[in-house]
Amino acid sequence: RGDVMLGVGTRGAVFGPVRDLGLIIVDEEESHSYKSEEFPGYNAVTVARIRARLQNCKVLLGSFAPSVRTRYFLEQGRLNQAAQVSPEDGTITVNHQIISMLGRKRGLAISKELHLALRDIFAQGERAVLFLNRRGTSSGLMCCDCGNIIMCPRCSVSLAYHARETLMVCHTCGLRQKPPLECPVCRGFTWRQIGYGIDRVASEFSKRFPRVPILKLDQDTEAPDHVIAQFASLTPSCLLCTQMVLGFEVPPVTGVGVVSCDNLLSFPDYSAPEQVFRLLMDLMHLLKSSGGNPHKQFIVQTLNPEHHAIKGIQNPEIFYTTEADNRAILGYPPFGALFKIEFSGEKQDRVKLLAEEFAAQVENCAAGIRVLGPGPAPKPRVRGRYRWILILKAAKRETLSQVVTQLWPGVSHPQVRMTVDTEEPFGIG
Ligand SMILES: [Zn+2]
Ligand SMILES: [Zn+2]
Repeated sequence: RGDVMLGVGTRGAVFGPVRDLGLIIVDEEESHSYKSEEFPGYNAVTVARIRARLQNCKVLLGSFAPSVRTRYFLEQGRLNQAAQVSPEDGTITVNHQIISMLGRKRGLAISKELHLALRDIFAQGERAVLFLNRRGTSSGLMCCDCGNIIMCPRCSVSLAYHARETLMVCHTCGLRQKPPLECPVCRGFTWRQIGYGIDRVASEFSKRFPRVPILKLDQDTEAPDHVIAQFASLTPSCLLCTQMVLGFEVPPVTGVGVVSCDNLLSFPDYSAPEQVFRLLMDLMHLLKSSGGNPHKQFIVQTLNPEHHAIKGIQNPEIFYTTEADNRAILGYPPFGALFKIEFSGEKQDRVKLLAEEFAAQVENCAAGIRVLGPGPAPKPRVRGRYRWILILKAAKRETLSQVVTQLWPGVSHPQVRMTVDTEEPFGIG
């Protein structure tokens, strides 16, 4: 009715019925939570831009590490820089260290360099955060005799091992089962843990620093607020956590150590480098904005020390220019348009056949569209449904829209579900 001058809301608010709209502010524009995965899918940042054009108002995007897309639009002059502000205290210094884990002894999660940095922090009676995005004790169990890895029967991903409850857990569908006594393939009975999860880092930490309390925060934590409160009440202390930490306000922290993020980097998705860069920048922001000792340590352990997403922590320009060059060469967004089409169903051959039929039709009718796949998704089976993915690339978005709208009604099967995703971030998982 025009009684209120300012409205605040989450992503759905972008559709709010507002008269005489003058300005839409999107804070942390790079956040993935602006994209709705539910039907009908949309990205609220795109909706804000379209709405602004229709209603002749302005959009203000806020970010301390903008998305590759926004950076590109800025350079193209399609967006204007409104202001550059530094929200952080200018007296804070961060010592960035990238530790190469290549050629190190296997089985140890904490390098000598990280150990020494932590030791100094704890000696001053201060706090540190250790980050690892893998829950459980290890990523899986492998039979020592035949190499068989225990998989989820419904999802074709390995089951993570949680030593505390002696359980195998599927982090995709939540299935829980006891570890097998003998190998179902060769009947061997010796198992080796592959990869390390947060629980294994916790036990290594306690051996290295027996007097420093370690608190754990991940999706298995029952009372996360309580864990953060405990972390705030103890010095020295260490918080071992997954991405979940980014949703909380932490007490003053002097150092952040990234135990590993290489599994994220190797994810088969063109935007994986951007996601890793974003994660590292978010952790850096958490460190800088936590207060306390202004001389901070940011340490990343990695098997990819030369990767631009990792080097970006020392100089973000390295990340943005390398990433833009790579995407321009391959025609990935924002340098070209990309649609992701997913086919899923309980019968693998049906799913595959329909995906192939659709791909063939696109190839037949359209010049200027590159067809990638179809192929099984990186998680090829989830909750008993097989998943195949087809990627379509073109210089212009309109080319893809036209072809897909034209072909869509002609290709279908009652037992196969087809979904098309047209908005970044795609998360080709
Ligand atoms: Zn075996
Ligand atoms: Zn599963």
